[in-house]
Amino acid sequence: MTPTPTAALERAAAVGASAGDALGDLLADVAALERMIRWAQAQQYRAVEAARRLHAEVEGVTGSSGSAEREMATRSFVAELATVLVAPEATAGRLAADAGRLAGPRAATLVALAAGTVGVPHVRSMLELTGDLPVDSADELERRSLDGAAQRTSSDFRRRVRRLRERLHPEPLATRRRRAAEERRMHLDPAPDGMAWLSLFMEAERAVAIVDRLDSLAAASVDRGRGAPNETSRDRRTSAQRCVDLAADLLMSGILDEGDAAPATRRIAPRVTVTVPVLSLLGVTDEPAELDGYGPIDAETARIIAAHAPSVRRLLVDPETGAALSYGRTSYRVGADLAGYLRVRDGRCRFPGCSRRAVRSDIDHTTAWAHGGGTDADNLAHLCRTHHRLKHESGWRMVNEPGGVIRWASPAGHVLRTYPEVPFDPVPRSSRVGAPPPAGVIDRSGPEAPPSPEPVLPTAGRAEIGDDVEPPWLHAAPAA
Ligand SMILES: [Zn+2]
Repeated sequence: MTPTPTAALERAAAVGASAGDALGDLLADVAALERMIRWAQAQQYRAVEAARRLHAEVEGVTGSSGSAEREMATRSFVAELATVLVAPEATAGRLAADAGRLAGPRAATLVALAAGTVGVPHVRSMLELTGDLPVDSADELERRSLDGAAQRTSSDFRRRVRRLRERLHPEPLATRRRRAAEERRMHLDPAPDGMAWLSLFMEAERAVAIVDRLDSLAAASVDRGRGAPNETSRDRRTSAQRCVDLAADLLMSGILDEGDAAPATRRIAPRVTVTVPVLSLLGVTDEPAELDGYGPIDAETARIIAAHAPSVRRLLVDPETGAALSYGRTSYRVGADLAGYLRVRDGRCRFPGCSRRAVRSDIDHTTAWAHGGGTDADNLAHLCRTHHRLKHESGWRMVNEPGGVIRWASPAGHVLRTYPEVPFDPVPRSSRVGAPPPAGVIDRSGPEAPPSPEPVLPTAGRAEIGDDVEPPWLHAAPAA
């Protein structure tokens, strides 16, 4: 019989049922529903793994396909799964990976989930804590952990698995810690009311500025590393690792452990991009502004940032007049003004569900320049490196629609749309480069650009970001 809370509630309301009986019924229903949820979750893992196999077939993966081809098919599937679940790709990726392991080496855990003896938190702990164990030890850990698991809460279960893991792990803790430390990284979480967590709860503009400065310092230290005299002396840290190391040095000692290069890094100031509606800046309206990497901030804060902070990059856009947004077929390169407009319009990578910031993404010609595509706002969009590759190397297809909307078609035939972060009114196609400059756009950088009372049109220069007709990685040798 399928229990439903409604039936139990009706019984509770029925004349003659004592409150005690009704309560007993309801609690039994709660327990039965939990078993059903666990069973359903097990079925979802099975369906995900079966779908992954079929998707690989649709993408043309065969027994003789190479590892690069399989890897791209998996990425394409994860993107498809993320859009179906309206979940971040990282979540979908974990679900797909978990489903694969539960269909293979951790099948006993999936059976326990389907039977309702463990829940999803137990399963997560099991997968995480058996992840890097040799097969024999992992099997042993799973067998001993599942024994009696039905009577353990998920936190109790996790403690027990961790203790068992320490006993069964053939590798010393110090070695494991060294490997785990490779994963160090910095993460900013936007919070409501103009605040953010950098695991310091603070005003969003300060958090964004800190992240930006650390990113810039890390990039500067990579550039210096290129001059290393030989392979062995080269710094092999990722930029994520560098960010954390720089933050730790600054917080713990106030100075950067960067040797002779320290004076150069001191000069790097954070740069914050704020998009302020012109009328808000003038104090005429209180329409919120956009802080790049965060979202909306109040007009008052935006006015203060735009007027006083020396390191703020201001991009003022008047949707009535617009910027020079179309280069047509006159230039493959995306001008700085158009790039700035696209950065604000897109905000993030335009792949469904991706949250990689536009400033860290490529600008892609939707219809390739080589195939007659123009350098126009309606043929350009930001794609992060991962999704840029996916567009070129898998079955995903995109089309620009009016109003900055991007239409995607997945390999499985789903149609999805992504919308601009900041929608602008359509800009007339006649506002090409070379046409009389429209008023109302300011785009200046750094301390050398004090606030100007006069709106100034940016010069249409070479873009900082651009893609090539054939991105260099298209022909790169697949990773071993
Ligand atoms: Zn992306």
